[in-house]
Amino acid sequence: MSSPRYIGRFAPTPSGYLHFGSLLTAVASYLDAMHHQGCWLVRMEDLDTPRNIPGASDHILRTLRTYGLHWNGEVLRQSDRLQRYQQVIDQWLESGQAYYCDCPRREIIANNGVYPGTCRERQLPAAPDHAVRLRVTDQPLSFDDRLQGTITRNILQTSGDFIIRRRDGIIAYQLAVVIDDIDQGMTDIVRGADLLDSTPRQLWMYQLLRHPAPRYLHVPLIMRLDGEKLSKRLGSAPLEADQAVATLHRALRILTPDIPPELASAPVADQLEWAVRHWQPERLPQSRQILDPTMVQG
Ligand code: GLU
Repeated sequence: MSSPRYIGRFAPTPSGYLHFGSLLTAVASYLDAMHHQGCWLVRMEDLDTPRNIPGASDHILRTLRTYGLHWNGEVLRQSDRLQRYQQVIDQWLESGQAYYCDCPRREIIANNGVYPGTCRERQLPAAPDHAVRLRVTDQPLSFDDRLQGTITRNILQTSGDFIIRRRDGIIAYQLAVVIDDIDQGMTDIVRGADLLDSTPRQLWMYQLLRHPAPRYLHVPLIMRLDGEKLSKRLGSAPLEADQAVATLHRALRILTPDIPPELASAPVADQLEWAVRHWQPERLPQSRQILDPTMVQG
């Protein structure tokens, strides 16, 4: 069987319920996958267990279904894959590509969030409360984002050797996301522009793992009129199932602005069908953030 030309995904973190901002990202990645007649997978990024909210994962999946966003196959849960991540960490520790670090967070914050390499040559032994860091090199890493253009970063200067396993033993998002995207055969990543600065670190891991990186499309984050990101942290309202038709239409007016107003009361499947056919992500604003043009008040 030949592998599909396009595999995309939505990868929510169950640290909160699905809200309008995360719906936009979900819809954008769904439209892109369907427009390319691809597969669309859902992955639950539930590694940061202290931040997981009970019931959030079920709410997210239920809401996606209500909004007509049906995924292919089983939902992959990162919490089921700890051994796989540890295997990669062990390989890198063994080869010297990664090392243990006991630096307190405040030291790194004091250095503008850039790790100065304090533990690089210390050869600290394994210990339950030691973080694991990945060595990076002093070189520009670039990728061509389908919307944001060419992005180039020297990660030695922007983050330094970065954490792949935290001091509390939790596997870092940066590592897990790359291993999963490789193992799931992802060809295309469509996600929020808040992750744009993470991408160069992820590219570095693709290089180390000798695996081609996927294509990227970072969609702008929706902001309230007062300029705050619609995020779980700010407690944006969880989406209500009985508002699906109207809320989906509001999302599609942002993502596919020409959507006919008469679709405003059409079933979600009909709205999505129109949007899949007319999806032109290059027409989205080429910025990291946009103010919500559909919002009447802030
Ligand atoms: N889990 C991340 C989030 O909810 C998204 C990760 C990704 O798309 O790479 O923000």
